[in-house]
Amino acid sequence: MKIIRNDNPVLIVGAGPVGMLTALELSLFGIETRIISKHPRYSPHSKATIIWPRVLEILSRTGVSNRIIETGHYFDQMNYYSNKKMIGNIRFDRLKYTNYRYGITIPQWKTERILEDRLNESGVFIEYGCEFIDGYNDNDVVNVTLQDNVGHIYHESYPWVIGADGYSSRVRECLGFGFDGYQMETRLAITDAELVSESTSREVGYYLHRSGNMVLAPIGDGLFRVGASVPTNYTGEINRQFFNKLLNDRVPGNKTLGHMNFCGIFNAHVRSASSYRSQNVFLVGDAAHVMSPSGAQGMNSGFQDAVNLSWKLAGVIRNEYDSSLLESYSTERMNGIKRTSKLSTFLANVSLYKKLPAIFTRDFAFRIVSRTGIVDRFITPRIAQIDIPHGELSEGITKLESGRRIPLEWNKSTLSPHLSLTKHTIFFWPGNHYIYSEWVKYFNSATKTVIGANLVNLSGKVLGFIKDLLPANSVCIIVRPDGFISDLVDINGISSNEVFNILNKKINQQPV
Ligand SMILES: Cc1cc2nc3c(=O)[nH]c(=O)nc-3n(C[C@H](O)[C@H](O)[C@H](O)COP(=O)(O)OP(=O)(O)OC[C@H]3O[C@@H](n4cnc5c(N)ncnc54)[C@H](O)[C@@H]3O)c2cc1C
Repeated sequence: MKIIRNDNPVLIVGAGPVGMLTALELSLFGIETRIISKHPRYSPHSKATIIWPRVLEILSRTGVSNRIIETGHYFDQMNYYSNKKMIGNIRFDRLKYTNYRYGITIPQWKTERILEDRLNESGVFIEYGCEFIDGYNDNDVVNVTLQDNVGHIYHESYPWVIGADGYSSRVRECLGFGFDGYQMETRLAITDAELVSESTSREVGYYLHRSGNMVLAPIGDGLFRVGASVPTNYTGEINRQFFNKLLNDRVPGNKTLGHMNFCGIFNAHVRSASSYRSQNVFLVGDAAHVMSPSGAQGMNSGFQDAVNLSWKLAGVIRNEYDSSLLESYSTERMNGIKRTSKLSTFLANVSLYKKLPAIFTRDFAFRIVSRTGIVDRFITPRIAQIDIPHGELSEGITKLESGRRIPLEWNKSTLSPHLSLTKHTIFFWPGNHYIYSEWVKYFNSATKTVIGANLVNLSGKVLGFIKDLLPANSVCIIVRPDGFISDLVDINGISSNEVFNILNKKINQQPV
């Protein structure tokens, strides 16, 4: 069998939203990819409909978030009702440390269209009708078997392969990753439909009831995503009558469905691959993990995978970083998925309580945490995905720490410092009290000695969201291209040469 070495360094298998964002991110770093998809993209099912604040931030890197915001529907609160009475809410307009104090609802097919447009503008085109059949790691390459839409088989090798081929990932199967987890008991029914006599609003409503839950989310064009848990013993059809009955049982007011775009029923799964990397093969998106749709976090989490992986892989391909850095993709993202999936499962479980004491306790607790600011501090930032730290760090943004997202963006702004898209950014913070001339000398000498990063002197600058998080003493804050803090280097009592040496090693991912 003759294996032809392909010129592209990276093969992306799957052109769903996550595969497309991965290709776009890699293109930012000048890395060419080949992206293939077994199926044509368009699906009438809206699937993922919510884009969370952190994901709007990261999508701004590739010019996607503005288009999502223009095309989608704004909402800034999720209101929770129990037995048709409001018990509390989750207010995104109260979020701290982000400019996106709202979410956007948008059908997944529109998000995919925007991503594909951006991809084409970057000179990358999806090869539809091309299927990944088989593959294995072979020393420093991955040998793959592909089949085109007229049945021709090709044997090729690539330095790197990214499996973005969704829940039934063939890449995952061929490379022998496990995919442990379970199927959730409750079936879910969804439709995108008009709601008679309901004006679209900026509220997503969650309706909890002994008979099950229901969600109504405006998604633009006068339509709502209507989702509901299916009663356990229900064997009838999922149609207008079914939804109208549940609206009547679970939702206040007299709401009924108008025009329905489609409807469907499915079983959710909670699963994660045993690792997200096997030598030169990576898994991203649903190929790596699936979770309860109750938190609406699946695609959003896949987008976080794409951004976490791309700068590392690009740096390794460009010989800027040691390949050992790539292992951190798997550990960081598996940790992030564990946190997000746990939250989604929790939200699903508590919304399905049937026994009165449990319902009473849940509603009472939610009223308290909603009114005392606990939701604002600990729950909202997690749902918004702005607070998913790496490693063992606990949630709650109180200071700048290694492993946390820095609350800054990549776009230039007069309101705050900004990050470099493709390099590490090192912020030189002089502390609250310093001698200006000495600090300027120090910074100038850093710019001549520290190579390969974007150096920013914070002295006298507008500091945006980091203003209250900076320490009193001088420090260098190293931020990765994906917006996570990699290190804080205390520069007090250390010679400048030693500091610059440490910084050079850190940004080149070498042991210090
Ligand atoms: C009803 C529902 C509601 C949801 N709601 C939300 C939500 O509100 N928020 C949220 O974040 N997420 C939500 N999700 C999850 C979200 O839809 C998925 O997480 C998302 O589609 C995953 O994207 P992906 O790119 O990883 O995979 P997919 O979208 O599954 O794309 C897989 C791609 O791989 C291709 N492919 C597959 N096999 C092969 C092969 N062998 N060779 C070549 N190509 C192949 C396919 O053609 C496709 O292009 C929801 C899901 C469902 C079902």
